[in-house]
Amino acid sequence: MTSEQPIYPELDFDGSFRFSCGPHISCFIDCCTGTNIWLYPFDVIRISRSLGISTTEFIRRHCRYFDSPPHFPVLLLQNADNGEGRCPFAGDSGCSIYPDRPWVCRLFPVVPVECRTDETAEADRRFNIFVWKGCRGVESGPETTVREWWTNAGMTMYEETFLDWQKLTDELKSSKIVPLTGEAAEQFKLGSFDVDRFRENLLDGEYGDTISIDEKELEDAANDDIFMMQVACRLMRKILLQRA
Ligand code: SF4
Ligand code: SF4
Repeated sequence: MTSEQPIYPELDFDGSFRFSCGPHISCFIDCCTGTNIWLYPFDVIRISRSLGISTTEFIRRHCRYFDSPPHFPVLLLQNADNGEGRCPFAGDSGCSIYPDRPWVCRLFPVVPVECRTDETAEADRRFNIFVWKGCRGVESGPETTVREWWTNAGMTMYEETFLDWQKLTDELKSSKIVPLTGEAAEQFKLGSFDVDRFRENLLDGEYGDTISIDEKELEDAANDDIFMMQVACRLMRKILLQRA
């Protein structure tokens, strides 16, 4: 979906660019074919809930894992296997999951130079503007700032849910246990992406005393996907990194 080179110099939050996209543009939905869309944990929850299926079923029907060396597996949308390679949610009238589309699609063409951590000051954040080579949205539409684009894409909520997992993946990258393989890779896939199966295992007592979790937290984990993600990160940190 992106060009080899960014089309603007690095921008900060108040940097401006021009871009527009929609059915009025002749390349509409062309960029949803033959692309690798990476999913973040919150993407899987949002899309599964909007489709009315479990995260387990969503992954089985629409995704594939890619063993991304040198760190850990990533989850990608599975494009149609018909030679065309269209995203499963791309229709002639647009994206069928538009309100819950993945992080990378909502933010496009803005790409953070680095993911945010707890310590990242807003003033230090930098962004590139990348586009797919056939994209006709470049330099069209009104001027906007990264901040406006970010806010309209609903990114604040996405990033807040993402911070815990981002921290875990940073810790993994700097540990000696990557690349994750075998059982460790399976634990990472389950805890990162398949919240519903992870929840079933947790409520069935499968993790025993690996983490201490009280009755109230168990109840919250049963009913709240975001809290469940946080519990999954705690457990992965314990299992994979032997840290509290
Ligand atoms: S190629 Fe660019 S302008 Fe065309 S649909 Fe995709 S993002 Fe929009
Ligand atoms: S999820 Fe929607 S926006 Fe993203 S590639 Fe698929 S059809 Fe396009």
